[in-house]
Amino acid sequence: MSTAHPQTLYQALLAMQFLLFDDYVIHAVQNQDTQVLERCNRRDMQAWVMASSVPLILERLSATGKADESRKALGDFLSAVTLMPVTGEELKSGLKSDAPAYSHALALELAARHKLQGIVTTQPAAFPKSDIPVVTPEQLDGVLAQAQQPEPAVPLLNILATYPQIMEGAEAAWMSVIRSGYFILGPQVEQLEKEMAAYCGVTNAVGVSSGTDALLLALMTADIGEGDEVITTPFTFFATAGSISRTGAKPVFVDIEPDSFNIDPKKIESAITPNTRAIMPVHLYGQCADMDAINAIAQKHNLLVFEDAAQASGATYKGKQAGSMGDFGCYSFFPTKNLGSFGDGGMVTVRDADLFEKCKILRVHGGAPKYYHKLIGGNFRIDALQAAVLRAKLPFLDTWLGFRRANAQRYTKLFTEAGLDSVIGLPPEVVPGHTFNQYCIRVKDGKRDALRAALAEKKIMTEIYYPVPLHLQECFADLGHKKGDFPVSEQAADEVLALPAANEVTETQQKHVVATIRAFFK
Ligand SMILES: *Cc1c(COP(=O)(O)O)cnc(C)c1O
Repeated sequence: MSTAHPQTLYQALLAMQFLLFDDYVIHAVQNQDTQVLERCNRRDMQAWVMASSVPLILERLSATGKADESRKALGDFLSAVTLMPVTGEELKSGLKSDAPAYSHALALELAARHKLQGIVTTQPAAFPKSDIPVVTPEQLDGVLAQAQQPEPAVPLLNILATYPQIMEGAEAAWMSVIRSGYFILGPQVEQLEKEMAAYCGVTNAVGVSSGTDALLLALMTADIGEGDEVITTPFTFFATAGSISRTGAKPVFVDIEPDSFNIDPKKIESAITPNTRAIMPVHLYGQCADMDAINAIAQKHNLLVFEDAAQASGATYKGKQAGSMGDFGCYSFFPTKNLGSFGDGGMVTVRDADLFEKCKILRVHGGAPKYYHKLIGGNFRIDALQAAVLRAKLPFLDTWLGFRRANAQRYTKLFTEAGLDSVIGLPPEVVPGHTFNQYCIRVKDGKRDALRAALAEKKIMTEIYYPVPLHLQECFADLGHKKGDFPVSEQAADEVLALPAANEVTETQQKHVVATIRAFFK
């Protein structure tokens, strides 16, 4: 039995979802009836089975045949569907229903809670009346055909799109964390640190509370503070320069390259002063900055390098992972990043072994041993529930990034075919290994905001990363910058528009986006 290609699972999330009731599962396994699973593989629908009914299904299957064979056949069948967890609360609430059969009532309740489109059963008559369609597999075709295809709304990102793939692993890990009572740091975090370090090709990784705290903790570990200057880009998320300022050091901005949107190495040396301690490049939109050039300048002037890899988990530069090339690499696990948790989280990689130890101590208020403080740190800890989710996701990261890359390449092809490549600026892959955490086009001649409104009218969501470069932010007024100081960043801020390009975005949706943009420019 074939398993759905992972991307089809995400795309099915946007399509039709049905609960396969116990009797149909038994029927399908016994008769090798693959009609529903084939629809799943064709992306016509996604199938769920109540986890709580698995023992009963197996018992019934075994009663009519060989137990071993039944077990294997059921295992094969279930590998192609998603098991729907059933909570204690749901089991109890099903008991309160006055439906004649408990499992039927439970199925209806769960289908409603998970917003499924219906239930597939061999005996619809056994179900009480409800708003949820209850159909036989033979009726399914009609239901799928009739179903009004929803408006092709295109969200920028569907955070839950990867959920079916990791749900079983992540939920099992969460339950084991909850049962262990080990909520902060502990074995899950240590494992995550080992696995991330191996993935990134580094030795030392420290799990922390957010990407912002990763930057702050790395700077604190290197004793960056009052009187120091750190060179960075003004075209980035606020946390980059915000963290530098919070240590007491001064962010010194250097303009970006127009193509990569990353710090321009050619402009770094003229910004170096006797107070310069470090360079903090950002791998913006998931594409690495020119690390060879940056590291060469750092070496020549004896500066540290802090990579802000918050948007670039899994991106590469000449075969090396983002965050593995500087003295420190800082990652974010914010849910919208390439590798996102179910809350806040981050990671610091540290090249130097002594600084690695110091970094871990600063993560827990500088206490070593506990309650004895030679240093002042902070609470920069990641929690075990987030580490468990990230561990469930990490093995899929490269596959998911492959989908993003494929979507980006498809946009570029569709825009070029539509003759729009000369009208809008398409994001070039300057450095192979771009992960397209964002696919940002450039819209010239002040038309960006009007295009964004036209897309919104067609339910296509977009975002501007970032509308105001950091040197023009009010809180940095005392740095004394004015409009015109970093013209490439300022122009980018006026022109960029991020289009929906995440894993789950379909070719149909991309065509809808491209057609809408073409209509705008007609
Ligand atoms: C998201 C982000 C951060 C901050 O990460 P959080 O986990 O949200 O604190 C820092 N730098 C850049 C470039 C980011 O995109």
